[in-house]
Amino acid sequence: MYCPKCGAEVDEKAAFCPGCGYQIKSKSEEFVDDAARVTGEVIEGAVDLTKKAYEKTKPVVKDAAKKTKGLVKGVAKKLKGEEEKS
Ligand SMILES: [Zn+2]
Repeated sequence: MYCPKCGAEVDEKAAFCPGCGYQIKSKSEEFVDDAARVTGEVIEGAVDLTKKAYEKTKPVVKDAAKKTKGLVKGVAKKLKGEEEKS
């Protein structure tokens, strides 16, 4: 990376710029704080979206489950009837 103050090449792990003494660490800490905040916001948004998607999907899943149950019951009834016939 490069020093934001003087533009000298600085080691990624360096706390200070060897050229001008600029404190790099505070910047990276700022970046970490920023990243943590943004990540938190993204996660909160994802949780919110998941909740919304769940609310939208819930009735569809319930309906599908109901239909499947009816279908299975129908098939079972049909199979039973065929069994009794033979
Ligand atoms: Zn510098």
